[in-house]
Amino acid sequence: MSENHEVLIVGAGISGLALARALYRRGISALVLEQRESDGDAGLAINLPGNAIAALAQLGLGDAIRSYGRPVERREYRSARDNLLFAVDEKRFWGDENTPRCVRRSDLVALLAADLPAETVRRGVKIVAVEGGMGDIAVHTSDGAEFRCKVLMGADGVHSAVRKLRFESGFPASARLASASWRFMAPNPGVEAWTVWAHADAMALLIPVDHGEVYGWAAATGQHQRSELADLRHVLRSFPDHVRASVDWALSDEARMHYSPLEEVRLSRWSRDGAILIGDAAHATAPVWAQGAALAMEDAIVLSGLLASRSDWSSVGEDYERLRRDRVEHVQTMTDRMAKAARLPMLLRQRLMPFLGPRSYRATFEPLKIPVADPVNA
Ligand SMILES: Cc1cc2nc3c(=O)[nH]c(=O)nc-3n(C[C@H](O)[C@H](O)[C@H](O)COP(=O)(O)OP(=O)(O)OC[C@H]3O[C@@H](n4cnc5c(N)ncnc54)[C@H](O)[C@@H]3O)c2cc1C
Repeated sequence: MSENHEVLIVGAGISGLALARALYRRGISALVLEQRESDGDAGLAINLPGNAIAALAQLGLGDAIRSYGRPVERREYRSARDNLLFAVDEKRFWGDENTPRCVRRSDLVALLAADLPAETVRRGVKIVAVEGGMGDIAVHTSDGAEFRCKVLMGADGVHSAVRKLRFESGFPASARLASASWRFMAPNPGVEAWTVWAHADAMALLIPVDHGEVYGWAAATGQHQRSELADLRHVLRSFPDHVRASVDWALSDEARMHYSPLEEVRLSRWSRDGAILIGDAAHATAPVWAQGAALAMEDAIVLSGLLASRSDWSSVGEDYERLRRDRVEHVQTMTDRMAKAARLPMLLRQRLMPFLGPRSYRATFEPLKIPVADPVNA
C-alpha cells in the first residue's frame, strides 16, 4: 500500500515547516515526514537577523514573531579583556520593521507550524530509500511504508538522507571557523546587547533572550581545537568574569551544555531527478552571520512561489537554484572571509577590527536587506 501526495517534505525543522507553511498558504498540500518523535531543540535559542524577520513577514508571521524573545538592537565585538572593538546599531541598520530578534527555537518552530492542519506532520518516520523521478517518486521509510509524490523536498538538515540517496556529492565538512562549539542557556549576567568576546584561542557570544536568560555560544578557535568541556573552561579563563560566570553556571550541570559541531555543505546542484534540497541540506554554513534560519525560510518562499505559479513542475528545481544561488553564495563568501579574519594574529585582529568590522557587517547584510522576490508576484 502506498500513500500519494503532491509534495513530500523530509524533515520538520525550520526549513521543512517553513516550506509546508508557505505551500499551505498557497493552497498546495504537502506531507512532512520527520524521524524524531518530538522537537530536538534542547530549549536553546536562535538569533534571527533582519532578513529572517522579513522572511517571517512574507510567511505571514511578521506581527506574531514580535511576541517572542527579545529584539537585538545593538551588537558589540569585544576583546577577551572586555575592550569594545566596535559596535553596530542593528535597530537603525534594519529599521523598526526588521529589527533582529533572539527567540527560543521551540517558539519559532511552533509559530511556523501553528496554522498547519494536524495531519501535515507525521513523526517517528525515517526515510531510507528513494526511487523514480520528477512526477512520480516513491519514498520508502524504515517501518516498511511507501509514499509517492510528484516532487520530493529534502529539508532534512546537514546529514540529509535525501542528499545521500539522490546526489553524488555533498558530504558535510568541518567549518573553517571551528570544528565544534557549545551552546547553552543561562541566567543573564547583565548583558544588554548581542556581545561576542574573542581572543586567539576562543570565542564566546551571549545574546539576551526573554525571562531573564541569555543564549550562549562558545568555541575553541585556536590551532589545537578540541571538543572536551574541560578545554572550554581552560580557553575561556581570561574572559571577563560575567562571561565566565554564565559558562560556569552552564558547566555546573553538563546536561545544560549542548555540543554543536560546525559543519558545512557546499553543493554544485540542489535539485536532481525530482528531489530538491532546501535549508541546511543544501547549504549548511557556519553560523558566523546567523543566516541558517533566514536562508531556509527564503528558500521556502521562493520554492513555494515557483510551485504555485506553474502547472508544469519539471523546471522548478533549476529555476529555484538560479533564483537562490547568488544570495546563498554571498553568505558563504562572507562567512569564509570572517573565518579567515578570525585566524589573523590577535594583535593585528584587534587593530583591524574597528575599521574592518563595521565594513564587513555592512558588506554582509546590506545586500540581504533586499527581500527575496516572490515568484508568484514576478
Ligand atoms: C552552533 C550553531 C548555532 C547556530 N545559530 C544559528 C542562529 O543563531 N541563527 C540561525 O539562523 N541559524 C543558526 N544556526 C543554523 C541553524 O540552526 C540551521 O541553519 C537550521 O536549523 C537549519 O534548519 P533545517 O530545517 O534546514 O535543518 P534541521 O534543523 O537539521 O532539521 C532537519 C530535520 O530533518 C529530520 N531528518 C533528518 N533525516 C531524516 C530522515 N532520514 N527521515 C526523516 N526525517 C529526517 C531531522 O530529525 C530534523 O528534524 C546555527 C547552527 C549551529 C550548528
